[in-house]
Amino acid sequence: MKRKRILAAIVILALFLGAYLAFATDYKYVGSSKSSKYHYPTCQRAVKIKPENLVTFKSAKEALEAGYTPCTVCKPPTED
Ligand SMILES: [Zn+2]
Repeated sequence: MKRKRILAAIVILALFLGAYLAFATDYKYVGSSKSSKYHYPTCQRAVKIKPENLVTFKSAKEALEAGYTPCTVCKPPTED
């Protein structure tokens, strides 16, 4: 019986971790550490960014404060 409780605790912890990770990866814009433009994640230029160079932003404000400027192709907003 004790083993079942431990198993249930592990399942609950895994669910919390999943929810946390889903929240942590909730971003609106992306950029590259090799450039100073930020994009919509669906932008043709954004999809070419290598995973190791990918930078994410939760808002346009966050991207601007990090010194990034809007991409001229996908034209993300400067405030949201
Ligand atoms: Zn773009």
